[in-house]
Amino acid sequence: MALGEFDLIRRFFAGTELQHPFNQLGIGDDCALLNLPDSYQIAVTADTMVENVHFFADVDPNALGHKVLAVNLSDLAAMGAEPFAVTLALTLPKVDEAWLQGFADGFMALARQYRVDLVGGDTTAGPLTLTVQAMGAVPRGQALLRSGARPGDLIFVSGPLGNAGLGLKIRQGLPGADGGSALQSFDRPLPRIEIGLALRGVASACIDISDGLAADLGHILQQSGVGAVIDWDKLPLSAPVREYIATSSDWTLPLSAGDDYELCFTVPMAAATMVPAGCHCVGAVEAESGLRIRRAGRIEQLQARGYQHFA
Ligand code: ADP
Ligand code: MG
Repeated sequence: MALGEFDLIRRFFAGTELQHPFNQLGIGDDCALLNLPDSYQIAVTADTMVENVHFFADVDPNALGHKVLAVNLSDLAAMGAEPFAVTLALTLPKVDEAWLQGFADGFMALARQYRVDLVGGDTTAGPLTLTVQAMGAVPRGQALLRSGARPGDLIFVSGPLGNAGLGLKIRQGLPGADGGSALQSFDRPLPRIEIGLALRGVASACIDISDGLAADLGHILQQSGVGAVIDWDKLPLSAPVREYIATSSDWTLPLSAGDDYELCFTVPMAAATMVPAGCHCVGAVEAESGLRIRRAGRIEQLQARGYQHFA
């Protein structure tokens, strides 16, 4: 007989000891109980992944477990929050134990890596849908918002752009591409938690790049009431992305492709020396609204449009 709801929860998700000191009570009661010191605020976020919208039906369940947690932790990173607890709402068409084991292994391995406890959730039957809600702690008043960028600030990204977008193209059948690292970026993005923590008191605004640099930097610019110029020559690109651009002449990939989950942030000139090593300055904030790119000696306007559901 197939595993029932309660056995399933016990077998795959419950029973690990709580790791983070803020968590008092985890899975097993009607609610979890979390205790935060008064000096902290809670940053809360939720993201849903739906089969055939956010992932392919034949995706490796271990990678899927990793990714659904990673995209949520990435939102906490973008706020400068330290993750401590997550919940998981699972809707499954059927109980496939091998699939669930892979999913739980991928999810729990990443949770352990960042000392995040799975403290509760919900399990239902229906079309395959995964929702994670993540909670992070940030000292009062120190969260990194989208709205703080000012003219003259420098713009940074935490790592290479377009890798995950290339990985997606490879998954969709792009021929001839050697995409080891690109596939890794697409399947198993790493949330930039340490960088987010290091940016408290340094960055004036921050966002994680889920929809492409142009769209996500566009959110910072809009919410801060400013504009920006970025430099094509300064964008960090991996060797496979450079090769893709050279052979396809689609140079917009690193600007428009999502799923990299690097951080994009702005920093006042005076704080530039405090930016963590490995981040790349790609441009500057200006008073004039809109997003522009300096490329081959010319300045062009960029359309900042990411993927929108229902659009
Ligand atoms: P209730 O009916 O009170 O909502 P449930 O029967 O849904 O409780 O869940 C029992 C316990 O298992 C709760 O603590 C709930 O948070 C937890 N739980 C249920 N599904 C999951 C899941 N997919 N991952 C983690 N915890 C879960
Ligand atoms: Mg329930």
